[in-house]
Order: sequence, then C-alpha cells, then structure tokens
Amino acid sequence: MNAKLSIDLSKLTENARNVTAQCKACGISVMGVTKGVSGSLPVARAMVNGGVEYLADARLRNLKKLKSLDVPKVLLRVPALSEVAELVEYADISLNSEIRTIERIAEEAVKAGKVHKLILMVDIGEYREGVLPEEIIPTVERINRLEGVRLYGLGTTLTCIHGVIPDETNLGELVEIAKQIEVQFKLTLPVISGGNSSSYYLVQNGSIPRQITNLRLGETILLGRETAYGNQIEDLNRDVFVFRAEIVELKRKPSKPKGNIGMDAFGKIPKFADKGFRQRALLSAGIQDVVPEYLIPADPAVEIVGGSSDYLVVDLTDCSKEYTLGDYISFYLTYGGIVQLCTSEYVVKEFVE
Ligand SMILES: *Cc1c(COP(=O)(O)O)cnc(C)c1O
Repeated sequence: MNAKLSIDLSKLTENARNVTAQCKACGISVMGVTKGVSGSLPVARAMVNGGVEYLADARLRNLKKLKSLDVPKVLLRVPALSEVAELVEYADISLNSEIRTIERIAEEAVKAGKVHKLILMVDIGEYREGVLPEEIIPTVERINRLEGVRLYGLGTTLTCIHGVIPDETNLGELVEIAKQIEVQFKLTLPVISGGNSSSYYLVQNGSIPRQITNLRLGETILLGRETAYGNQIEDLNRDVFVFRAEIVELKRKPSKPKGNIGMDAFGKIPKFADKGFRQRALLSAGIQDVVPEYLIPADPAVEIVGGSSDYLVVDLTDCSKEYTLGDYISFYLTYGGIVQLCTSEYVVKEFVE
C-alpha cells in the first residue's frame, strides 16, 4: 500500500506519562480519549501504560474493542435510548444529560446486576450537551431515587461548537454546583471533570481550580497540543502520527492553469498565484483519505497545492532534498487528519514500538 499512517506507540506513551504527571500534580485524574483513533486497542494500551486512569470514547463500538484493558471505560457521547443495554455491558461510566435516558440505564443496570456510574453534564455556557445549572438539583434528586445507577460526578464541555474558553470563572461555577450537591445530598463526587484538551492550559499555568479532579484528554496526548489557543506543548511529541504518501508523478509544470477556471472536483472555485514553472508532485492519496488542510508537511519547504479525491498535489521546488518518483512525502497531522485517516480503509496503519 502506498499511503501509510504510522503511529509511534513509545512517543504516545511518553506523552501520556508527561500529561498524567502534570495533571496528578494538580490533583487531576486523566481519561484518555480514543475517539480520534477509532478506539484503536494499541493506542489505548499505550495510553494506559502512560498512566491514564480511564479510557473514554464517544462510541460504544470503539469501547467494545477495549474490553480486554483493565481500566474503567467511559462513554463520552450522551447515550442514545436505543443503546442503553449495550452501554451497561461495555461502559462502566457515562456522561449524561437526559433523566429519561438515566432512568432506562438504571433499569438495564438492575437487570444486569450492575451499578452504572453517571457523570452528569452541566452546561455552563458552551450550550452543547448538559443540564442547565438551575435544573441540576432536581435532576440529582431524581437520580438519587434510582437503583442501578450512582452519581459519580459532574462534568462540563467547553470549546467545542461555540469555542467558549475554560477559565477560573466558568470552571469555578461547576465547582460551586458540585459543592452544593455534596452538602445538600451528603455525598462525595469522586469526579469533577473540567473539560477536554482546551482546559489543559490551566494545568500548565497552574490556575485550574483546585476542586477540579478530572480532565478528558484526547488531542493533548495524541498530538501534544492544547486546544484553547492551539499551541504545541514544548515537552510533548507532536510526531506520534506521521502520514506518508508516495510520489506517483513528478514533473515541472506551470503553477498557473491554462483555460477558463470553473469549479474544482468538490465545487469550490480554486485560487492560485502565477509562480512560473514549479516542481510538482502528485501523491498517492487524496481527499477521500484526508483533506489537505489537515496535513502539515514534515519538510517545511514542501508546499501543499491542493487535492482531488485521489491525488494530493505538492510543490517541491523549494526543497533542499532531491525527491524522486517512488519517494514518500511525510506529513504531521491535525486532529481532523488523524480522525479521517484512522477511518479510511485505504490507509495502512503501522504501529512503531
Ligand atoms: C472528544 C471529547 C473529549 C476529548 O476532546 P479533546 O479535545 O480531544 O481532548 C472530551 N470530552 C468529550 C465529551 C468529548 O466529546
């Protein structure tokens, strides 16, 4: 195969070890999030080796693959009513926001002789999933009357569809609600989950509220990035994932097309600068495998020109390395890139130990 995604498991374990140590110093446990890699078992195992205490994924189908690993499994996407029986079988914990679904989970858990743990999602401003703060107390009252489920914690999601940045104010609000519940219902909440990789910068700069006890981290571990401001983290490996595609055509061609310009293969009107003749390579993978915007050339002198469904086009004119037909061009990836490549059946996945 001529398009490969290599995944360096040692570098991944290093990232997980570093991130879990930083979090631990702030009293925070880590859920290692595997949805970016379709719940890959080797990736999940590398995360566990690096110290994550839980594995979390948005899909039950992915959690099923992780059954053999002996850490609690968490379903991140609020469960569908139609998957509650499977939820109870494959997940120990789930993020929830609908009392009707929670009641169904309780019934199924009782049938299965289990106690399923709930993290109740509180919507503190992102307005994606979660119960609004004023509805939390009545919801907890109803959960407390149920058998088969136990309120294990509160959680929140930020910086997802509306880009709200986690800070001491909004996470402080979550902490206040948690305290109120602990006092009013005389219980302890082992998990107060303060978000995803966009909350990691608060760990780095030491300003995460002390009562936050958990984060759910995918991108930070996989790609070494925090996602509130999109910065690469110095001590973490950015090259756990490397995508390689083979040069299938290599020719000097004009950079400005000849003829009238209409739409490209995906309905967009292309724009380009006239830079004269350039050394152009066509690579053996296209938009069907990965969108060019998700790729970061490992050699900074490689310029991505564009792509169609089956080719990526790159400009190699400024490279000091002399590429030839049959060589591979390497790319680092954004999160969207690993999601897409991991789900493409045309791309070989190679694990490097
Ligand atoms: C995807 C997801 C995460 C992990 O997000 P990252 O940005 O990869 O850290 C955490 N929580 C929920 C609810 C998610 O859906």
